[in-house]
Amino acid sequence: MFIGHWAPALVAAAHPKAPKLGTLFVAGQLVDFGFFTLMMLGVEKMRIDPSASVMNPMDLYHMPYTHSLLGNALWAVAFAAIIWAVTKNRTGAIIGGLVVLSHWFVDWLVHVPDLTLYGAPPKLGLGLWNHPEIAMPLELGITFAALIFYIVKTRARTSSARLALGLLALVLLTVQVVNWFGPPPGEPSAGAALFVLGTYTALCLLAAWVGSTRQHPQAALQG
Ligand SMILES: [Zn+2]
Repeated sequence: MFIGHWAPALVAAAHPKAPKLGTLFVAGQLVDFGFFTLMMLGVEKMRIDPSASVMNPMDLYHMPYTHSLLGNALWAVAFAAIIWAVTKNRTGAIIGGLVVLSHWFVDWLVHVPDLTLYGAPPKLGLGLWNHPEIAMPLELGITFAALIFYIVKTRARTSSARLALGLLALVLLTVQVVNWFGPPPGEPSAGAALFVLGTYTALCLLAAWVGSTRQHPQAALQG
């Protein structure tokens, strides 16, 4: 999954005590930030294999620290601890940690068996990447349903709220369509990893802007 990882972030952001939307966008992709960083360092590994799946030629054959359920859970605990240390908001910390943890389960839907429980076989994954007719509507569906949920549950607080939201929706759709129909990824390289990390970062910054233009109805009542 790509933009689908931000569906849990958008749903979580509707909670009045949730961390900021930009923080939750980082949470949704935290272990992919981790994977592409560790890949550059040669710690986790992938290779290009066009037969890996119908939709994704990346053979993700070694990612025990980021995409095992245990590894993902440790990233979630660490992220929650940071939020708690900075904000002393316990509910917000738990929400942030759960969004980090959602990554493994959302990935499980589409990945061919390359996910693990603790870094060793069995390898798990439902494999919807072999069924684009299901995977594509599913990813767009959960992401935009979550975006609508977030819009309904929050209120605009600045005049740029509509512009920010429209831009986020447009960029989410664009990066996903380019991901599906653009040129296939080349062999893994530091440059390719940095490009992916830069794209994630840009989306997180855009989400942070959207979050700054909106508030929860309770906050609106308090003025
Ligand atoms: Zn992932």
